[in-house]
Amino acid sequence: MKITGARFVTATAVPGGEPSPGPPEIALAGRSNVGKSALLNSLLGRRGLARTSRTPGRTRQINFFLVNERLLLVDLPGYGFAVGPEAERLAWGPLVEGYLTTRPTLRGVAVLVDARRGLEAEEGELLEFLRSVGRPAAVVATKLDKLGKTEARAALAGLAAELPGVPVVGYSARTVEGRVALWRVLTAWL
Ligand code: GDP
Repeated sequence: MKITGARFVTATAVPGGEPSPGPPEIALAGRSNVGKSALLNSLLGRRGLARTSRTPGRTRQINFFLVNERLLLVDLPGYGFAVGPEAERLAWGPLVEGYLTTRPTLRGVAVLVDARRGLEAEEGELLEFLRSVGRPAAVVATKLDKLGKTEARAALAGLAAELPGVPVVGYSARTVEGRVALWRVLTAWL
């Protein structure tokens, strides 16, 4: 997809704080450090649009980015249950689950997985949750450049075998491999 405009619109840290439903939305989910900010920036061709995970305050919010005035990319907070003050950990559930369950304009969710680690418990649970609420999902294997060609192919095949019916796309924010393929999967939801 050719990006003619991309900008941060708003963020919410509390259920119900989302903007009024407007254009169709695609959400990105993944544990901290999976490469979500890098992927968002490279997908949009805007360096620095999504701040890195280490920026305080932004990581536990749902962030909304308007793309080409017709699509919202929605950056969900990383589900690192093990980190952060207890109150913030407890807030993740209602905030994200509420969004994923009730958002009328949400068309699909890309779940990011580190290509070297594959599916872990949290990703499996999230995908199961998405299936249970009827949301289309895709899996993006990030940091693909960190694997050799043969390993990368095996990692993608392994994910595809584990997840019948779920599109699996390999991605590298460094080389931008997978950008066209990922946009194809995401825009098919629109
Ligand atoms: P986030 O916490 O999911 O937003 O993760 P970031 O986008 O901040 O990335 C976490 C770390 O992984 C950073 O040091 C990035 O430079 C690195 N990283 C992200 N994507 C890639 C990638 O495609 N290839 C490589 N080699 N490193 C990446």
